[in-house]
Amino acid sequence: MPFECCVCGFKDTTDESGLRKAQRRLPLVPRPDVLLLTFQTAYNWVCLFCEIKNQTMIDEIKKKNNNFTPEEVFDHVENGRVELAKLVMLQLASRRQLYVARTHIDPLTQNNLLHVVSRLGYWRLGRWILQHQLQPNERASFANRLNRANHTPLSIACTRDNRDDMVLLFCKAGGNPNYIVEDSTCLMRACCSGQDMWCAFLFAVLTVPPIKDVLDDVHT
Ligand SMILES: [Zn+2]
Repeated sequence: MPFECCVCGFKDTTDESGLRKAQRRLPLVPRPDVLLLTFQTAYNWVCLFCEIKNQTMIDEIKKKNNNFTPEEVFDHVENGRVELAKLVMLQLASRRQLYVARTHIDPLTQNNLLHVVSRLGYWRLGRWILQHQLQPNERASFANRLNRANHTPLSIACTRDNRDDMVLLFCKAGGNPNYIVEDSTCLMRACCSGQDMWCAFLFAVLTVPPIKDVLDDVHT
């Protein structure tokens, strides 16, 4: 099966033998950590052309802004700019050793970034935060943090329709499915939303020993 660039769809089976080096798009390279270009598919590859274009955009943003703030990260996530949120998180981590997911909460709601990601359903970003912003031994504690309404990221995921992927992510991170908020456990919330897959999954989690942390084994 040919691989293709997730931005422009360029296939790695294309014959580029007649082209000069500067005109070539191959080989495809792994999708960069921050991809500001609009992607069409979930493939994990980009062509050289798109990679350069993406890097130019990143460099311009970095040059323009010398003072990234944690508040910007929350603002980007709330407004669906998840790749920009990652870029700012990476900049804050490298320039100031500041890990926003670890150190910041929204002052009004007391949401940490995982609460926000859970509410908005950004599964990829949630996994990225768990992997890149938190140490393995911190993940459970952040997946079980309470916001002002006493919700955890997992209890929020269980309250939403069709987000069994989020439920699985936070369970793997060590979120407690037995946690009770407003008289409902996570399983009860999943049942109320009528999502069979969640119920089966959460029931399995409740009846077996805790799932080992497998986040680091996931590569997609
Ligand atoms: Zn491309």
